[in-house]
Amino acid sequence: MSTSDRVLRAITDDGAFRVIAAITTETVRAAIASQPAGPTNARPYGELLTGAVLVREAMAPDLRVQVVLRGEGGRGSLVADSHPDGKTRGLVNFGQGAEPIRLGQGALVQVMRTMPNRSLHEGIVAVPEGGGVSGALMAYLAESEQVASVIAVSTLFDGSELLAAGGFMVQLLPEVERGPLMIMTTRLEDFQLDDFLRAGMTSEQLLAELLHGMEWARVGESTVAFDCTCSQLKVLTSLATIDRKEIADMVSGGEPLEISCDYCGKKYEVRPAELTALLATS
Ligand SMILES: [Zn+2]
Repeated sequence: MSTSDRVLRAITDDGAFRVIAAITTETVRAAIASQPAGPTNARPYGELLTGAVLVREAMAPDLRVQVVLRGEGGRGSLVADSHPDGKTRGLVNFGQGAEPIRLGQGALVQVMRTMPNRSLHEGIVAVPEGGGVSGALMAYLAESEQVASVIAVSTLFDGSELLAAGGFMVQLLPEVERGPLMIMTTRLEDFQLDDFLRAGMTSEQLLAELLHGMEWARVGESTVAFDCTCSQLKVLTSLATIDRKEIADMVSGGEPLEISCDYCGKKYEVRPAELTALLATS
């Protein structure tokens, strides 16, 4: 996993804020290249990938976190899948007629964490009108996790080419007092994430801008990259869940079965002998 995309975590010395800054340009670029998102979906798709990384780093750095945005009227969805080792991937599921996925009234944001015992912890809330991906993630954290935070995620494009992607999260900690809160609130009101992305800022520079004039310490650093977790074994495991008769039909053709990964497009070939073995065990 070679990447220059980094995520940094910091806490202010007064215990008021936790701040996470992420530059995710290479990750988002590769994710968009592997998943035809269309001109309208590429922006929210890229933002959701960065958002999933921020939510994982804030709430569950050691767990797998998936964030799903369901478009209004149940039409289409965007999926971002962020793993503890930094591997990040996603899916664009178009609605009927390949319409763009809209985040208007009735859109939902769903966050799932895979717990160590493989069970899922799940929360789902409505996307607030006009808030975009950043607003959706803030609403989720406030309503489902009772975490007061400001999140901003963004993707900058030149036509269809991604120039930069990244974002940040400022979380209010229980010790926050009125003075620091007012300073931070004023700062975030004027904070132009796009300007910093356009200037090619690193995660360090973004973090330093957010915490300018405050005493703080870095508490974590990690890398993220577009990477898929698919494998021949996982393809076989997924086949094991389908009907025995369907598998028998596949075997009777005598041809190897070609299956491509929905996330990364990698092609896997399953030989009839492997299918026969599945029939014997399932
Ligand atoms: Zn894959």
